[in-house]
Amino acid sequence: MIVTLSQAVEQILSGEPVAIPTETVYGLAASLFHPDAIQKTFRIKGRPADNPLIVHISDLQMLEHIADNIPDEVAQLARNFWPGALTLVLPKNSKVPDHATAGLDTVAVRMPAHPLALQLISVTGPLTAPSANRSGKPSPTSAQHVLDDFKGLVPVLDGGICSIGLESTVLDLSQKPFTILRPGMIGVAELRQVLKCDVTMPHNHKVVRLANETETDFENKDEKDEKQKIDKHGIDKLRKSPGTRYKHYAPLARVLWASSESYRTHHSRVLVIRHLAQTKFGTEIHTYDQGHVYSFHGDYEQFATQLYELFRRADREGYQTILIEPFPEPITNPVCLALKNRIEHAISQDSNLPETLS
Ligand code: AMP
Ligand code: MG
Repeated sequence: MIVTLSQAVEQILSGEPVAIPTETVYGLAASLFHPDAIQKTFRIKGRPADNPLIVHISDLQMLEHIADNIPDEVAQLARNFWPGALTLVLPKNSKVPDHATAGLDTVAVRMPAHPLALQLISVTGPLTAPSANRSGKPSPTSAQHVLDDFKGLVPVLDGGICSIGLESTVLDLSQKPFTILRPGMIGVAELRQVLKCDVTMPHNHKVVRLANETETDFENKDEKDEKQKIDKHGIDKLRKSPGTRYKHYAPLARVLWASSESYRTHHSRVLVIRHLAQTKFGTEIHTYDQGHVYSFHGDYEQFATQLYELFRRADREGYQTILIEPFPEPITNPVCLALKNRIEHAISQDSNLPETLS
């Protein structure tokens, strides 16, 4: 059911979760200081209890009740990137319920850049909000996606299509060196420039969960410099962010990297996604015997806003396979890195990752 802003406020204050729009993806919001409501969001989603939530705020003063020993760098980052798609992991204030942080001594915080989310939070106070998808589905980028996943049972504040469409960058500031736990729109170069210090970025964040759960697989062996920075400490950090371990963003259709020339040889129904680095902009769709080809021209941002909708469309329309043309290496564009990360998580659904999702 779609609700108005004032109905959303009422629901949240009475301890009921509401799906809310942000510029990244829709979140399933509950009041931070209402532990029962937070637990409800875990139950509704089927989210594992060891996967901590991001706390959403609407002004910097709210941070005082959420984080302790706030490092000086937060003010600088907030000035440059908030409201925006950057989540900061900070030492947790004891007032924050353990359910929200999965028992960790840190808390993840973000100020979203969506006017409805900011208005709502300014009345309700800080909100926890994991992505508002049912376990196993790609994150929702429209109110309709949330209605589809929860069969209309979760109230949704409709704020239109998410302008970014991929989850935020997660930056751990609780220890040095600062580490990106999840790549997003805001990239390592921008962060280093603002912070004027090193920020580590485990390569591609493709976490392969081996039997003993201690290994991380780093792709692109060429980038030795980056790799050398990933010491044991870096691996521990990744493991500290449990969400990165879980299978994510996965449609029912099988996702594969494949060159655009090879798609015509596929015999099952396929949805092909390709990016063409050309000067013209926009999306082109063409149909052929086996399915549809979506070509994004020029910018990765456009691709990012569409990725999860295309994953969902593939399932709605009964495609068995989604073929995505690999990005040209080396990848430096942060949006492209974030896209690659989400696509590889979707591909890894065939691996031995746990069934529980976020
Ligand atoms: P989602 O809400 O589905 O976008 O996922 C939130 C992401 O933030 C997951 O990858 C979590 O592991 C990560 N996260 C949340 N809180 C923390 C924390 N305290 N420390 C490290 N990572 C966190
Ligand atoms: Mg999620």
